[in-house]
Amino acid sequence: MPHQKSSAIYEQVVRRNPGEPEFHQAVREVLESIAPVIERRPEYADWKLIERICEPERQIIFRVPWEDDRGEVHINRGFRVEFNSALGPYKGGLRFHPSVYLGVVKFLAFEQIFKNSLTGLPIGAGKGGSDFDPKGRSNREVMRFCQSFMTELYRHIGEYTDVPAGDIGVGQREIGYLFGQFKRITNRYESGVITGKGLEYGGARVRAEATGYGCVYFVEEMLNARGTSLDGKRVVVSGSGNVAIHSIEKAQALGGVTVACSDSSGYVLDEKGIDLGLLRQVKEVERAGLSLYAERRGTDAVFVPGRAVWEVPCEVALPSATQNEIGDDDAARLVRSGCVAVGEGANMPTTPGGIRVFQEAGIAFGPGKAANAGGVATSALEMQQNAARDSWTFEYSEARLHEIMRDMHDRCLTTADAYGRPGDYVAGANIAGFTRVADAMLSLGLI
Ligand code: GLU
Repeated sequence: MPHQKSSAIYEQVVRRNPGEPEFHQAVREVLESIAPVIERRPEYADWKLIERICEPERQIIFRVPWEDDRGEVHINRGFRVEFNSALGPYKGGLRFHPSVYLGVVKFLAFEQIFKNSLTGLPIGAGKGGSDFDPKGRSNREVMRFCQSFMTELYRHIGEYTDVPAGDIGVGQREIGYLFGQFKRITNRYESGVITGKGLEYGGARVRAEATGYGCVYFVEEMLNARGTSLDGKRVVVSGSGNVAIHSIEKAQALGGVTVACSDSSGYVLDEKGIDLGLLRQVKEVERAGLSLYAERRGTDAVFVPGRAVWEVPCEVALPSATQNEIGDDDAARLVRSGCVAVGEGANMPTTPGGIRVFQEAGIAFGPGKAANAGGVATSALEMQQNAARDSWTFEYSEARLHEIMRDMHDRCLTTADAYGRPGDYVAGANIAGFTRVADAMLSLGLI
């Protein structure tokens, strides 16, 4: 790490948070980017701002007991890390996946600080989840799990305190069960306590689409800044969940041809362009594996089991599955295959080595903190509508999202320029996100 002070803080974070490599990685990237800010702003050091930002305000771990359809009892672990509330109530999703442990939740909550700050909206940062595996679970089992999870979580959240939403494994169905249980326990119809709700009970239009659409808007801005566009470009997307599906939809609307997407079983290559209706049927309705997509699509598509989708050549890559899914080798292969832009729909999907490869090759690299911030930004719009007991049209909501993405893109570029890193969206996002939250913390005093 270039700056001495940053390395000392990083060492301290590693010592205080042993066995949490994802959290260390997220902290390291931010500290590397903000080194020039620390030099320019000595008051940050005087008030130990960086050390304070790296320490969550509160970390909650709880037991989640539930019964499966056969009457067998299971015990999972629930988490909520309330990382920073300088800009607003803690805000961030819940992830249900067997890989979830405190280190993953902390890395996600930490990323959320800078992402939420970068949106310019009044939202703090948190993240939560459980090591519960929803795969293969019946609807009723998922409902019972969500009810048990909320039976503890409800006492920690609130419209002015902490506002969860979805993430991997938590979609509109789970948000409904969580909100239903919150309402029942508290006897309060507090719509703004959770976002990503269904449209019929306080949800916001475009929230479901927002992360994917926003990511593609961000990529289109990066390409426009280089005098080109998505039109006619060959696109590869990883994942086939909510973010991936809406990225594919918007990329296609802007003239891109998405030829591949993936899930935990492998990837599907469909040279004519992914059939979105079929993909949604397989993934959202039948909750099946991608091999079914290829089977139904007939001769046009092939399913490649157990391999990474990054072996498919493309001009635009949209990693939209999970953390650390693009390593240096994948990045190098993508660059060789002619990739000119990467938009991170997932959180931290590219390893530090992978980012280095992309940046050295001079391609447009949009980090998740900026590129996927459309999701949480639209959650903030949902909170606005809930507070006003209002409901906006699809067109208006999408226009707001588009404007937010454009502003974030420009903020990244101007900030990167101001710190001598032209075109570096990682530095731009980290520095712009950091300075807003750091200045708010300075104003609020030593708390
Ligand atoms: N989980 C999403 C993210 O990573 C959305 C969070 C939210 O809407 O609060 O930003």
